[in-house]
Amino acid sequence: MELGIALALIVAAFVLGWLGAARRERGRAAGAAAAQAALAQQLNERIDRLEEDRQRMDLVLSSMLEGVILFDATGQVTYANSATEGHLGTVPRSVEGLLPLGMRSAVEHAAAERTPASSEAEVGASRWLRGSAVPVHADGSVLLVVRDVTEARRLEAVRRDFVANASHELKTPAATIQAAAETIRRASTDDPSVVPRFAAQLEGEAIRLSRIVGDLLDLSRLESGSELEDVVALDAVLRDEGERFEEPAAEAGVHLTITANGPTRVHGSARDLALLVRNLVDNAIRYTSAGGSVDVALAADAGEAVLTVSDTGVGIPTRDLPRVFERFYRVDRARSRETGGTGLGLSIVRHVVENHGGRVSVDSELGRGTRFEVRLPAAG
Ligand code: ADP
Repeated sequence: MELGIALALIVAAFVLGWLGAARRERGRAAGAAAAQAALAQQLNERIDRLEEDRQRMDLVLSSMLEGVILFDATGQVTYANSATEGHLGTVPRSVEGLLPLGMRSAVEHAAAERTPASSEAEVGASRWLRGSAVPVHADGSVLLVVRDVTEARRLEAVRRDFVANASHELKTPAATIQAAAETIRRASTDDPSVVPRFAAQLEGEAIRLSRIVGDLLDLSRLESGSELEDVVALDAVLRDEGERFEEPAAEAGVHLTITANGPTRVHGSARDLALLVRNLVDNAIRYTSAGGSVDVALAADAGEAVLTVSDTGVGIPTRDLPRVFERFYRVDRARSRETGGTGLGLSIVRHVVENHGGRVSVDSELGRGTRFEVRLPAAG
């Protein structure tokens, strides 16, 4: 009996032990399956994130203005964004097919030397491209970024020309002032009678110098925009400026009339709008001979304030018309100088008009006269 109980207990213990092991095994299996499922989910999430990243990168690269090309270690193209074709005309399959040649050399150099390299080349009609090649991996993969630098080069040329022209314009009066000052110093002992003549020359050139510097300062201020803080009554500006020119016009024998039809308001800078009117009226008087006339008129038309300055002066040859708004461009250099011109007045006018969201145009007939028209958006 005792043996039977013992046996039964042993069997029971064995069965219970086996059952526990089986349960643990089943638990382990279930745990492994759950871990696998979690792993699979993590993997899926990671793939989704990578796909999202890839799509985002594609979006960024395809909306870039620059062409972006990736070359692998063997020189094959493995990626090119959509702008590439626009710049190069075609997407090369490998570095051997890359043109212009300078760009190919830059990529080869970056791959071989593991250092960035770049090149600029003219392609087509005055279009300039710059390619910057950067090694992206030690195996020799290279990323090439291609950008259109035509406008940047044009602006750089304009800046260079401007500095050269401005220096030249300033050099002449500066040299004359120096010469006149030296002559006065010597003449004050040798021949005092010539002193007034050279003193007058010195004064004249000093005034010219300060006019050029003043215009240059206005221009540089206007290049950073006008402060459009006020509603400006253009008719009042016109009246103020008109008064200022009554005397010079009378001295030049030019008949000046100013007509402002009602109050015409624009959003803008009173100071800059006065500068605009001053430059146009000053030009009209300076380029009109005695007996001629200058008419300044202001009117409202289709939501715009329209200012016209017409004269019966020397006129501008048709071929020069498109260039008169350029800095330092003059049709008749001698006349401009004699009458105190700096070659910057119309450039100032153009900047003020652009800063106020308007437009300016010019009509002229040689020997008969010129008419400038400025249109500015009216306030309210
Ligand atoms: P400037 O100081 O020489 O007058 P602007 O920039 O004001 O320079 O004008 C550029 C050139 O345009 C002048 O040199 C002149 O040849 C021409 N011009 C401007 N306004 C007139 C005008 N009303 N009549 C004839 N020529 C003009």
